[in-house]
Amino acid sequence: MVKLGSRIDVAIVGGGMAGASLALLLAKFCPNLSVALLEQRPLMDPGASIALPSFDTRATALAAGSLQLFDELGLWPQLKPYCAPISRVRVSDRGRAAGVAFTADKQRRASFAGMLGAVIENAALGPVLYRALARLPVTLVSPAQVERVRVCDQGVDLGWQGEDGPGCLAARLLVVADGVDSPLCRQLGIETERVEYRQRALVATLATQRDHGGVAYERFTDRGPMAMLPLPRRDGSHRMALVWTCPEEDAGELQALAPAAFVQRVQSAFGWRAGRILRSGELQGYPLSLHVAWEQWRRNLVLLGNCAHFLHPVAGQGFNLTLRDSYHLATTLAAGCCTGESPGQLNLLEEYGRARRLDQQLTIGFSDRVPALFAAPGLLAGGLRQAGLLGLNLAPSLRASFIGQAAGFGL
Ligand SMILES: Cc1cc2nc3c(=O)[nH]c(=O)nc-3n(C[C@H](O)[C@H](O)[C@H](O)COP(=O)(O)OP(=O)(O)OC[C@H]3O[C@@H](n4cnc5c(N)ncnc54)[C@H](O)[C@@H]3O)c2cc1C
Repeated sequence: MVKLGSRIDVAIVGGGMAGASLALLLAKFCPNLSVALLEQRPLMDPGASIALPSFDTRATALAAGSLQLFDELGLWPQLKPYCAPISRVRVSDRGRAAGVAFTADKQRRASFAGMLGAVIENAALGPVLYRALARLPVTLVSPAQVERVRVCDQGVDLGWQGEDGPGCLAARLLVVADGVDSPLCRQLGIETERVEYRQRALVATLATQRDHGGVAYERFTDRGPMAMLPLPRRDGSHRMALVWTCPEEDAGELQALAPAAFVQRVQSAFGWRAGRILRSGELQGYPLSLHVAWEQWRRNLVLLGNCAHFLHPVAGQGFNLTLRDSYHLATTLAAGCCTGESPGQLNLLEEYGRARRLDQQLTIGFSDRVPALFAAPGLLAGGLRQAGLLGLNLAPSLRASFIGQAAGFGL
């Protein structure tokens, strides 16, 4: 319980995938730091389900590097039953012969248990993270909507509205992880670069006739890129997670279809690689844009997750990138603890920012360019895509760097 006016080392605002993962990493790497995680929504029964935006009906492709990180946190045994391993990725362009396949054994670096990665439903990931947090000395403050932040030389003052009225605390470091379009960043005067893609990601869980065999498909259709990701079987059903990125108007049309008609459209765009698509679960649409904050750190302040960078999901990179950011932040603060530095000290946060710059630039650029290439209609763009896929098949170094980027190995 955080008392009114308490003073702690690190306050994390936002209990989504970013905030919860950082809290776990800080508890492991910086056990001497006191950490509070503040979430505006109630965490009703963290053991059963977590009603936060991060942990909705989507599924997340975790790169091999992220699996290794969760293993280091001791969470792989808890995650494994909910994960479908990805042993192969097949990239193809509808109506064209060329395609490219990646398998785990052709990578530059050893992968996690021979996998390229694994897919987990977000609704399963949330309870695993929060059950682990409940066993650690991290203070959960919820519901607590942080409304006021003031950064000063000594640290940060936070004020929130909770169930029992207002609360406040002082922290030496504030980590803002409150999602895209963050009001707290606006309050702090942090601007964001934005690109509106005018696209929507349509997301649904599909039941299929045949097993996916551990294959993740990335297929470039006339409407836009379609990912079909393997999911673990449930109640005897073979399942896959669909993420179909379409222009806004096409997405609206597809969302208005009856479920059977929607399944038919998916079948005709995806083909019969998993046999007949039997049914679709609830269809959700996510408007897509690129947001990158102009500043990600200041003295006593760091931005993390969607509020720092919100990416196109075509390459499944957003959370994987955030995990790598979080790992570097936690290990940088741990090194600072050893030499008696305050977690909000500018030199530490600058060191963190410098270490993360290249990976962020590459990952953001990769997520931004792939949809642009594959969204372009017409013969020429189709030809370029085919040449690109053929190039990936033929040029081992190009393919290795594509896999390295997609698999999220430390860059
Ligand atoms: C369709 C889609 C598919 C994706 N697939 C993948 C994938 O396969 N692989 C991958 O790596 N990434 C993927 N991503 C990206 C991934 O979902 C994001 O990286 C992740 O959701 C980031 O979460 P977050 O914690 O930063 O933000 P959020 O989930 O938005 O969490 C922010 C939290 O802050 C809380 N909050 C907000 N304001 C306040 C306040 N004032 N006080 C207290 N709390 C507050 C909110 O309630 C919320 O719980 C995908 C994204 C989309 C849209």
